[in-house]
Amino acid sequence: MQSPQERDPARRLLEFIDESPSPWHAAARLAAALSAAGFVALDETRPWDLAPGRGYYVVRGGSSVIAFRLGERPLQGTGLRIIGAHTDSPGLRVKPAGASTRGGMAMLGVEIYGGPILASFSDRDLTLAGRILVRTGAGLEERLYRYPGALLRLPNLAIHMNRGVNEEGLRFEPQEQLPLIFECSGTEPETTEDRFRQQLAGWLDISPQSLRSWELAVVDTQPGVFFGPAEEFIATARLDNLASCHAALEAIMAVKPAAGVSLIACFDHEEVGSESYQGAAGRFLPDTLEAMRVALGAESAVLQRELAGGWLLSADMAHAYHPNFPAHYDEAHAPQVNAGPVIKLNAKQRYATDAVGDAYFQALCERAGVPWQRYVHRTNLPCGSTIGPICAARLGLRTVDIGAPMWSMHSVRESAGAFDHGYMIRALSAFFAEV
Ligand code: ZN
Repeated sequence: MQSPQERDPARRLLEFIDESPSPWHAAARLAAALSAAGFVALDETRPWDLAPGRGYYVVRGGSSVIAFRLGERPLQGTGLRIIGAHTDSPGLRVKPAGASTRGGMAMLGVEIYGGPILASFSDRDLTLAGRILVRTGAGLEERLYRYPGALLRLPNLAIHMNRGVNEEGLRFEPQEQLPLIFECSGTEPETTEDRFRQQLAGWLDISPQSLRSWELAVVDTQPGVFFGPAEEFIATARLDNLASCHAALEAIMAVKPAAGVSLIACFDHEEVGSESYQGAAGRFLPDTLEAMRVALGAESAVLQRELAGGWLLSADMAHAYHPNFPAHYDEAHAPQVNAGPVIKLNAKQRYATDAVGDAYFQALCERAGVPWQRYVHRTNLPCGSTIGPICAARLGLRTVDIGAPMWSMHSVRESAGAFDHGYMIRALSAFFAEV
């Protein structure tokens, strides 16, 4: 039986997720927590002045964050310790001119971001959250925005018109059937777009003329909860992968490296392939390491050796065993919830873990006093991937793919065990305690 305190990490996680409805909010929330813990914000456009013993962070593209902590002898032979995660989650994004009228309803057209379970968005109390670019006297200003309360809906078709839904599954044709109900209006079709812009401007308290552009995610309004008689489970949105961002954040805030460098990198755009300005396949992490090296006055070969002797933990969520679907798992490699971090392996290198990394992470868990498990996808199913192989290949860094087990990955409402988050934080802290 777990003690009530062992639920505290999950409680902090649910709060973090509630406050991070979009990748831009998540980055701002990470930056705020780092600042409060004494980490100093760095600007990529200026030279850096770094002091051993201090913590720093840098934000790129408004939605990716790298934070690092220097020990007393950074880049002097301990090897880098890096945790990678991602700030984005699959879902729906509002089109720039997506508003239209159909049958007296103002509808918002959306694009699909990543690979969400579309059906999970139906009949939920949805709203908008993201960033909006506003023109001001001084130039462009970027504002984070979340509509307070339910705003949008994707109603199901009644079963009387969709008799096969329970046999064939719930399907939405993306272009025609995903636009969201926004407003009951008699508005003329040609003015619907203006009407949405006016509403948005009104919520931001700006003129419609100063509203330049936006990136708005469609998100669920329901806060995270514990469930189960002993509150042994949690349910919320975006566990994949804000849970790993939060665990990495807590680990870097808790542990001070004695000598070397500990670093966390929370990237946007993992769910769409990572090839972007702020994505894991981009230059954000190599550029940050290079700027750190220059600021510390180290030779290129020194950084090379730190990478060669370092480790990256690619922290992303893992598939927990679903008791109703045993045939979808390889039973010998089916992680249970509340049974510890999962080491993810794939012979085709969709996960970067090899035997050395597997053994390395097992030892970390043992040192932290937490259980561990392994996941391997069924041989007849194509395996998903993570930023692990991308970072391993681009940086020349030994990498282990790990994650906490969860259900309903990519649903608008995901679920997991309440105790795995605490286990993960302990394992990640043991990782940083090494340098
Ligand atoms: Zn993920």
